[in-house]
Amino acid sequence: MNACIITIGDELLQGFTRDTNSEWISKHLLDYDVHTEYKVTIPDDRPKIIQTLKRAISDQYDFIFITGGLGPTHDDVTRNALKLFFEVSTVFDQDHHEKLVEWCHQRNIIPPLNLESQSTILSGSTSIPNPVGSALGMSIKYDGSQIFILPGVPAEMVGMMQETILPKFFLKSDFSRFITLKTVGKGESKISEEISDIIHDFETDVKIAFLPQYTGVNIRIKRISKRVGIAHTVANLIQKRLKGLIYTNEDHALEEVVGKMLRLNKLTLSVAESCTGGWLSKRLTDAPGSSDYFLGSVIAYHNNIKKSVLEIPDTILEQYGAVSEQTAKLMAESICKITGSSIGISTTGISGPTGGTLKKPVGLVFIGLAYDGQVFASKFNFLKNRTLHREMSCTTALNMLRLLLLENFSNTF
Ligand code: AMP
Ligand code: MG
Repeated sequence: MNACIITIGDELLQGFTRDTNSEWISKHLLDYDVHTEYKVTIPDDRPKIIQTLKRAISDQYDFIFITGGLGPTHDDVTRNALKLFFEVSTVFDQDHHEKLVEWCHQRNIIPPLNLESQSTILSGSTSIPNPVGSALGMSIKYDGSQIFILPGVPAEMVGMMQETILPKFFLKSDFSRFITLKTVGKGESKISEEISDIIHDFETDVKIAFLPQYTGVNIRIKRISKRVGIAHTVANLIQKRLKGLIYTNEDHALEEVVGKMLRLNKLTLSVAESCTGGWLSKRLTDAPGSSDYFLGSVIAYHNNIKKSVLEIPDTILEQYGAVSEQTAKLMAESICKITGSSIGISTTGISGPTGGTLKKPVGLVFIGLAYDGQVFASKFNFLKNRTLHREMSCTTALNMLRLLLLENFSNTF
């Protein structure tokens, strides 16, 4: 089955808002073996909406998703354009309207006039409840295509997809055509070399794609033959070959994987951050339930804090500098002592654009790790781009922690 996604909004075309809706929809449709073959972003413009939908219908997609422009303001023209296209009138959903009014009264809010447009759907369509907002969605069957009309607000679109559309209109396939293996620590060319025989042996069954990012490479395996389950077989072979490089075969972030390992082994963690300025702690706490293992952090950005809070001696800072192996080690040890955690991580580096020297250029970073009375620090030279440098430092710190856990605890993935 195939799908087409039409996202509507001037701000999407002007680059003010990223079109995350089509990303979310196309990604989640894959679980149901539905492939997005065409997506397009168009302005809040009636003729354009009509013309685009006409084309999508004549191209005979099984599913057409339309998001955006259902709101109550003058620039939201989607409902009206569709009314013209389908040549239908509208139906006012009294029940929905009463619920919205009641919701306002309970909160002492005067119901806005626009609640009426939020309760209006095209006649001949079925309304889709909105679990997190006020505008109703719609589904309508037309010329062989099942069309869904959804609000632009990402949370509202996701709510409707998860609660109504996916469970009601789609059947989950047991064996997905796709598997993604997420790796960290090596570049795509090295990885592709290491699994080149597997790629070759199964080239008629699966298509293997490498999706490199600065923080790791995702290996995407897509079944192209009729051999159901072959993607899993190939994924297992690759997993065995690459061992510790792969941190998950599911849709999990590195911090979630590391968090699971810490929880499983009843370990606690604390962080002393310099160049990453709190980003590492932010990522660790992005994982729900991270208070099970993450105790806290010190952002020791200025040397005064390294001295006063982390008790890094003046002599060390003077002799080796704040960005040094010695300082990174002491920071990791010190944060362990202060918080009483089983493991401590530290980051200290030069993210730039200023502050680099010949001996210590922009891009340099030391990451320290203290565990079980031992401490070590590794040196890296990452990109000279401030954001990427900080992001890569965080990812590398998380990966060093993951590798330490893999080495010391056999019950981890
Ligand atoms: P609308 O439904 O067009 O009134 O949009 C409501 C909000 O959702 C606005 O802040 C839009 O920028 C945002 N939005 C609309 N379409 C998308 C999209 N495709 N991806 C992400 N955000 C969107
Ligand atoms: Mg809009």
